[in-house]
Amino acid sequence: MKPEKVDKKELHKLFLSGKPIKEIALQLGSTSGSIRTMIYHERLRNPLDWPQRVSYSGKPDMDLLMMHGYECGECAVMFTVEDDMDVDHSITICPICQSEDVKDRGYGKFVATSDVMKRDA
Ligand SMILES: [Zn+2]
Repeated sequence: MKPEKVDKKELHKLFLSGKPIKEIALQLGSTSGSIRTMIYHERLRNPLDWPQRVSYSGKPDMDLLMMHGYECGECAVMFTVEDDMDVDHSITICPICQSEDVKDRGYGKFVATSDVMKRDA
């Protein structure tokens, strides 16, 4: 038995596929707790690669939003803007320091869900 050694690439793939944490853990031979912790740490490093998601109970390709990711050149914060027709991305400014010096980090898929408040743990 090896100690916990999870393939980050595989984890990322499963994460983006929208699988429940429990299933990801099973598939990678880990526990839900470790997977959550790992995702949490990866997210701190690469917020754009690890979109926030909450309890999820639909088909994997449902409710995916395309978001536009930016990084502020002034305060280095990363933020996302929904890729909506109504949004003029040429005038995007930093939500923290209002700087217009924002770098485009490209698109990402984000799982949209409305039951954030359902978790009671
Ligand atoms: Zn800023």
